[in-house]
Amino acid sequence: MGIHLEQNQEKRKNGAVKKSIMQTLSKPLTTDFSTVRPHIKALQTDLVHWRRQLHQRPELGFQEETTAQFICDRLTAWGIIHTRSVAKTGIVATIQGTSACPPFAAPAPSHPPVLAIRADMDGLPVQEQNEVPYRSIYDGKMHACGHDGHVAIALGTAKYLNEHRDQFTGTVKIIFQPAEEGPGGAQPMIDAGVFKKS
Ligand SMILES: [Zn+2]
Repeated sequence: MGIHLEQNQEKRKNGAVKKSIMQTLSKPLTTDFSTVRPHIKALQTDLVHWRRQLHQRPELGFQEETTAQFICDRLTAWGIIHTRSVAKTGIVATIQGTSACPPFAAPAPSHPPVLAIRADMDGLPVQEQNEVPYRSIYDGKMHACGHDGHVAIALGTAKYLNEHRDQFTGTVKIIFQPAEEGPGGAQPMIDAGVFKKS
């Protein structure tokens, strides 16, 4: 009986949460995304450059020291708060929005939302066959899964959001995760409390 009561209460709670999310999502977005595009376009040259620099120096899981330094150098230059050495080589950057009026948060949340964006950092034990100026300088290691692109995109996102903190409410965490290809960097980052710290 007690169990049934608890289950019913849980069901009602889940239903209320679901309804609240659906109400929030069904509200029309008031953000004009046409204003975002030119800023992203302006980042294109940097994005390509970062991706190629990262492509040249692929590092295997939990050995992403140069990659981590590359990320931290940029976050530091942009004044973005970040924690490094999370689960060995991982990094968590935190960007706090300063807008008082959320564009699509209705009903108003009891506390500002936290959004996480995650990019994996590691390369693969693969010999690069490409003949491009930015090919891997390490024999037997290659960014063959696109994590160089993921890191570049996450950096560009961090830069954009940091420069437009006045246009959103809440917190964005940019998570740079090591060892996606193996032995696995997600669980060690969760164990390190990445989703617990605000
Ligand atoms: Zn991958």
